[in-house]
Amino acid sequence: MSTTAAGWLEGNVALITGGGSGIGRAVAERYLAEGASVAIFGRDAQKLQAVVDASADPSRMMAIAGDVRDADALAAAVAEVVSRFGKLDTVVPNAGIWDFNRSLTRLSAQELGDSFDELFEINVKGYLLTVQAAWKELVAANGSVVMTLSNASFHPAGGGPVYTAAKFAARGLVTQLAYELAPKVRVNGVAVGGMDTDLRGPGSTGLEDRKISESFARSEITGNNPLIPLHHASVDPVDFTGSYVLLASAANAGNITGAIIPADGGIAVRGF
Ligand code: NAD
Repeated sequence: MSTTAAGWLEGNVALITGGGSGIGRAVAERYLAEGASVAIFGRDAQKLQAVVDASADPSRMMAIAGDVRDADALAAAVAEVVSRFGKLDTVVPNAGIWDFNRSLTRLSAQELGDSFDELFEINVKGYLLTVQAAWKELVAANGSVVMTLSNASFHPAGGGPVYTAAKFAARGLVTQLAYELAPKVRVNGVAVGGMDTDLRGPGSTGLEDRKISESFARSEITGNNPLIPLHHASVDPVDFTGSYVLLASAANAGNITGAIIPADGGIAVRGF
């Protein structure tokens, strides 16, 4: 007798910001494999379309170009998703940049201010605007939000002060929005650890073309690192997608809101 295992997200419709690369792309492909229809939103239309074209089922995927700092673009994206797939169940605010561990002492006051503004606009305000654009559809669908957080949402040394403050702020959004949007919409997060991705820096500090995968700092938080109890853990974003599936699944996480899964190799076990 043959059996076909149903995916955990059959019939789900998801919108993922920053879905053209890294963990956003990996989550998009995993959601697709679990039976969802998925829209990926990001700045580079060609990059997004290439991801759709390379996907296992392009008929259940769509690319939408826009910037997460642009409320109108996000509202239009939500409308496009609903027009194409009929509803919106899951939103993954994920688009972000990193500060490449630039410490307070290495930045001029001008650089500190400019990189703060740029990074918070994308990593914090971008998350807020994404949820604001989507909440009515999420209420209608009894849906949920799954935010990409970071080890830097809890611990030092995952970035400099600007990135760490932004990721702590995003953690605040999970708590506050879980409270505000209950009981119709669940809001949770996945605090991922270091991954080998395309993650860039702020243009205001000249780091927009540098990737975390090329960074010396990255090697301190990934790979064979004794500071991470599961230091054999993979840095491939694909291996971080399971928590996103669980939290998006109403059948499996219908009573979970305001929660953050630390998918970071167990940094907290060591107390750092
Ligand atoms: P990535 O660069 O591969 O993915 C981020 C995506 O966001 C890119 O496709 C980029 O084009 C897009 N993006 C950036 N700014 C945007 C904007 N203003 N509007 C629209 N799209 C924009 O990097 P990633 O590592 O997959 O990053 C995704 C998330 O994971 C980020 O929130 C990051 O802070 C978080 N994170 C990454 C790591 C890591 O080690 N890579 C660790 C912890 C958390």
